[in-house]
Amino acid sequence: MDIKANLQAVKKSFINPNCKLIAVSKTKPIEALKEAYEAGIRDFGENKVQEIQWKQLEMPEDTKWHMIGHLQSNKVKYIASFIHLIHGVDSFKLLKEINKQGNKADRVISVLLQIHISEEESKFGFDHAELDEMIADPEFLALTHVKIIGLMGMATFTDNQDQVRKEFRGLKGLFEALKSKTLPDFVQLEEISMGMSGDYLIAQEEGSTMVRIGSSIFGAR
Ligand SMILES: *Cc1c(COP(=O)(O)O)cnc(C)c1O
Repeated sequence: MDIKANLQAVKKSFINPNCKLIAVSKTKPIEALKEAYEAGIRDFGENKVQEIQWKQLEMPEDTKWHMIGHLQSNKVKYIASFIHLIHGVDSFKLLKEINKQGNKADRVISVLLQIHISEEESKFGFDHAELDEMIADPEFLALTHVKIIGLMGMATFTDNQDQVRKEFRGLKGLFEALKSKTLPDFVQLEEISMGMSGDYLIAQEEGSTMVRIGSSIFGAR
C-alpha cells in the first residue's frame, strides 16, 4: 500500500482544491498513520474512543484528531482534553455532555451536528424537527464550552449517484437555511462534512468543505 501515492492521487482528483481532507485511519496500524503524517497529513479521523486515545499517545503533538463515529455521552470525558473536532453530534444530550466536559477541561470544543440524510434507519443524526426543537431550547442558548462550526451527513450506501447527490444537496440546503437564521454566537456555520471514498467527488460538487476518506488512502479495511 503506497499511502503517499494514494494521498497524491486523491488530492489531485479533488474538484474543490480547498476542500479539507480528513484521513480516516480507523482500524489501521500506527505505522500507516505515521506514513500519512510524513506525507503532510495532520487531520486524522477515528470512530472509536479507545483507539483514538492510544493512537493519540503515539502520534506527534500537532496531529488533529477528528471523532467521526457515533459517540456515547459517557465516553466524551476520555477525549475532551485533546479532540480537535467531533463530527457526529447527533443528540442534544450528547451536545450538553460535550459542553460539560469542555468546561471541565477548560476548552471550547468544536463540533458538527450530524444530520440524518440517508434512507437508512441505522444512520444517526438529527432530523429537521429535532434540530428546530433544540435551537429553540433555553438550555441550548446557555451552552458555553462548545462551538458548532457546521453540519455533517452520510449518504445512503447505494450505487445510485442521483440519490447520493440529492441527499448531499439536501444537507447543503439545510446548512444555508440554518445559516440565515439568528443563532447564538457559539454557532458559526462554516463547514459541511460530507463525502467518503465512494462519494467525495459528488459531495464536493454539492458544496462539501470537508471529506472523510479512509479506504482510498489506506486500503480496504
Ligand atoms: C469509515 C468512515 C469514513 C471513511 O470511509 P471510506 O469509505 O473508507 O472512505 C467516513 N466517515 C465515517 C463516518 C466513517 O465511519
